[in-house]
Amino acid sequence: VQGSENKNKAESVKVVVRCRPMNEQETAGNHQRVVEMDVSRGSVEIHNVKNSETDPPKIFTFDAVYDWNSKQQDLYDETFQPLVDSVLSGFNGTIFAYGQTGTGKTYTMEGNASVPEERGVIPNSFDHIFNHIARSSNRQYLVRASYLEIYQEEVRDLLGKDQKARLELKERPDTGVYVKDLQVFVCKNVKEIQHVMTVGNQNRAVGPTNMNLHSSRSHAIFIITIECSEVKPDGKSHITVGKLNLVDLAGSERQSKTGSMGDRLKEATKINLSLSALGNVISALVDGKSSHIPYRDSKLTRLLQDSLGGNSKTIMVANIGPASYNYDETLTTLRYANRAK
Ligand code: ADP
Ligand code: MG
Repeated sequence: VQGSENKNKAESVKVVVRCRPMNEQETAGNHQRVVEMDVSRGSVEIHNVKNSETDPPKIFTFDAVYDWNSKQQDLYDETFQPLVDSVLSGFNGTIFAYGQTGTGKTYTMEGNASVPEERGVIPNSFDHIFNHIARSSNRQYLVRASYLEIYQEEVRDLLGKDQKARLELKERPDTGVYVKDLQVFVCKNVKEIQHVMTVGNQNRAVGPTNMNLHSSRSHAIFIITIECSEVKPDGKSHITVGKLNLVDLAGSERQSKTGSMGDRLKEATKINLSLSALGNVISALVDGKSSHIPYRDSKLTRLLQDSLGGNSKTIMVANIGPASYNYDETLTTLRYANRAK
């Protein structure tokens, strides 16, 4: 029994790696690609071109890998869709985009809204959810959305009227951990939920002084709650609630390199704290042997406690860049992802 339980736990967490294409500067600068991917085997090989004699190539295997030719729709159909389906059947699910800044986390989550084939998992899940609802005539659905950000272990409601307000995490014995006063919007169709996302993104961009720095150092969480009620043949109505958390994590790059001091250093420590706490939680879940899952170690893991482990499904997309100058960060990301699998 213990064995099958472990197996279920392991299957509920999937780790995939995605490598973006070389960008214009990298192509123009003739940067060397140090990443090789075997899509059919799900493996990634990374070469240390500076030290190829003393440092042999390293190979990692994941649930799936997506190379620079992969399309947004491939990831959705093969990897994300089953998780969204399980949320539609009343389970919780979380999708994380992890990786160094500039490797494609936001591309994976949101993508390019104006190009249909470049839409990321968030807009694709909107379509999927409302198409599903339109097809089910015997069930009533209620879809709600919230959007928040965690920055320096502080929670900000990206849909709140007062963008300066900091929200508290609270806990109730019946419903578990929740964010006090978080705005929740009922959405009746794709257009409405898209609007909620747009408003949140605008608030994310105007909040801080330096948008790029801020967005690379904060975790953005878009939360969709799907309530379904169905009248069973016995005349009783049966209600299920599933929650989908879509998380664009802070950049995983080591902050110490930039010679951080004072506030910056404090910030760096807190960013790394949430990411390392998340790594610890996921590896404890995958391991299946630990009786203690350290959810309480960060705001991020506390907030997502009811959607990590148990009957929930989790997908971690580890994003990497292909070029040699990113070797160290890419290897660090692959090691983090390997530990989570
Ligand atoms: P991050 O959010 O991790 O900082 P972004 O998602 O902003 O990174 O991606 C950085 C740049 O690379 C953007 O211009 C984005 O459009 C581009 N990009 C990322 N991943 C891909 C991909 N798989 N295919 C094409 N362009 C990509
Ligand atoms: Mg980003």
